[in-house]
Formats: sequence, structure tokens, C-alpha cells
Amino acid sequence: MTQMDTKLAQVGLSTDPNTGAVSPPIYHSATFANKGYGLTNDYYYSRVKNPTRTQLEDTIAELEGGAYGFAFASGMAATSAIMQLFVPGDHLIVSEDLYGGTHRLFTQILSRYEITTTFVDTADINKVKESIMPNTKGILIETPSNPMLRVTSLQEISDFCKKHNIISIVDNTFMTPYLQRPLNFGIDIVYHSGTKYIGGHNDVICGLVVVEREDIAEKLTFIQNTTGAVLGPQDCWLVLRGLKTLALRMDRQQENAQKLAESLLNHVAVSNVYYPGVAEKVVQKLQLSQSTGFGAMLSFELKNFNLVKSLIEGFELVTFAQSLGGTETMITHPVLETHADIPEEARLRLGITNGLLRVSVGCENPDDIIKDFKAQLDRASNTTLKPV
Ligand SMILES: *Cc1c(COP(=O)(O)O)cnc(C)c1O
Repeated sequence: MTQMDTKLAQVGLSTDPNTGAVSPPIYHSATFANKGYGLTNDYYYSRVKNPTRTQLEDTIAELEGGAYGFAFASGMAATSAIMQLFVPGDHLIVSEDLYGGTHRLFTQILSRYEITTTFVDTADINKVKESIMPNTKGILIETPSNPMLRVTSLQEISDFCKKHNIISIVDNTFMTPYLQRPLNFGIDIVYHSGTKYIGGHNDVICGLVVVEREDIAEKLTFIQNTTGAVLGPQDCWLVLRGLKTLALRMDRQQENAQKLAESLLNHVAVSNVYYPGVAEKVVQKLQLSQSTGFGAMLSFELKNFNLVKSLIEGFELVTFAQSLGGTETMITHPVLETHADIPEEARLRLGITNGLLRVSVGCENPDDIIKDFKAQLDRASNTTLKPV
């Protein structure tokens, strides 16, 4: 079987039947002329289907080990489309530690349509079991979660869902199919913010969904076409291009993340480091039983919460910005940005304190990045903080 890194390096290679173009062509066409009377074409209108989008959709489906792929205008558009599989009266169990925008979708949009949600720590299967109701129709998890990097067992969730006839959904943004393929564990739906590691260069917003089950694929095809939040051909091409270097980027980024996590652990200004690669042995073991690495996202907590602003403003190489998965190391303050919409009580229970910072570790030379962190933390660990 061809290895994943080989597949990635050759994404889109010579797939154009007309020319053999090594880089797949971009079909900037809204519509396609019919060959005769009737709807006999493969392609007839680009919301329904576009050749560049098909290329990306087939590629992500293959990488995830599924049968059907879907490309959306954003990760949130993908999540919204998945949620349209559910109807008023349905209940979902959702990881309590997850992307802020997903939390907002459940609490501020889907709630209006009488789709109810219980947020629980899905890393604890007993909590999941306790939350089931007669109308529970779906479980959505993030593993590792955002921003606390908790690890949920894909197998336990999948088994539980199968037993109770519940649709299982995994946000695989942090891992990508290079590290983790949830469909292999019997998960029904896997999705991504392709904006992050898959695109990899902070130059495109994208959402991707992959399923194996034909019944779900049929419904998603209908929803995608009917609600229309498709990814444009130019953006599909950018994502395909990003995928070619995914293995290289991920390898480097997670190697860097491990080094940075270890150096943060040893710094006196830091009270906690959250990264599967430095977590308890049982967590590491679970992570490596369902993926081939720990990824490149980590969070840490400053002992003195008041120093966050000064720390962030002091960085030379680390960018303070609200995204992840690109080649550049970025730092986020979840309380201020990504998780601002999560109620304070829930945030604190999860450990998302005012002193928590999330880092997307990039592809730079790790020594440079570690040095930048150390310089800022050294400043922060002095009680009388020196000006930047
Ligand atoms: C960014 C992100 C999303 C949302 O994706 P967009 O492309 O920004 O719409 C969903 N889940 C996770 C884990 C993310 O990081």
C-alpha cells in the first residue's frame, strides 16, 4: 500500500485527462454547456459540482480512508452542513473543550431550532454514557481538544455510538489525516477546518468533510448543493497545493512542539503545560494508539496571569494571531479570542484561565522559537517586569 507521505507529495499529480498537467488546472467556470438535450453532463453548474472541487474532495476522501469528500467555504460552513443532518427535537453530546465557534453554533444558532446539546468531558466515557437521552442522535468530539489538548478515545466513542445508533462526528483539524484517521475506528463523519494544517499557509479559509456511509453522503450532497456554502475553485487549488507538503510540515511542527513543550515545563514562570507529548503516560499511550503523533498544538499557563499582555507584546518571532496550523509559530490568548464566547464558569472548570496561552508551533528552527519564549518568560518571571 502506498504510504501517506507519498500520497501527499503527489496530490493532484497529472490527473487532468486532457493535458496531464502536473499541477491540476483550476476550472473557473460557473456553468458547463450541455452536450445534448437533457442533464447528461458530469458537470453542469459549479455549486452542484466543479472539477477542481471534485479533485480536492476525492483527495481528502482518499486521505481519510473514506468514500465521499465535501469541500466547504469554511470549517464552520462544514460544521453547519453536518448539523443539518439533525432535526428539531434531536439532542447531541459534544466535547465541552472545543473550538469556540463550534460552541457558539450549538448555543446560539442550533438551540433556536430546538436542537439541544450537552457539553461533557468526552475523554471520560462514563460522562458520555451518563449524558445519553432517548433523543440523543449525535456525538461530536475534538481530540486532542482545543485548547486543553485532552484526548478522547475514538474507539470508545465509536463503539458507544454504534450500540445506540448515534451518529459519531470528529473534528480532526488538529491532527489531519496524516496523523489520525477517525473513520478507521468506525467514526461516521470526520471534518476539518482546512484553513489550518491542511491548507497550511494561512492563505485560505476552507472546510472539509469525509464520510464512508452512503446514506450520510447522499444527505450531505443534497445539503451542500441546497445550502450552497461551497469552496471556490481557486481556493480548492490552494488547499490541494498545501496538502503536498503536509507530511513535511507536520513532522517538523510536532518535533518542534515537543521541544518547546519540554522547555516550557522547565520554566519557573509556567505553572502548567498541556501537550499530549508531555502528558501522563496513559494519555500518551491512548494518543499513540489512535494516531501516529502528538501534533503541534500546545497550551501553557503562566503563574502570574497579569503578565500575559507584556509577554505577548515582547515576542520577536512569535506572532500574536488567532489561527493555527501554518508554517509560522502563533500564540493566542483563548480567553480574549477563540474562547471568549464560552461562559466563564465553564471556561474555568476546563482550565481555560486568564493565564492560559495556546501555541501553534510552526516550522521554524526550534532553537529560535525556544529562545524567543525563554527571553519573554525570563522577563515575566522577574517580579518587577522590565519594559519591552
Ligand atoms: C478554526 C477551527 C474551526 C473553524 O474553521 P474555519 O475554517 O475557521 O471556519 C473548527 N474547528 C477547529 C478545531 C478549528 O481550529
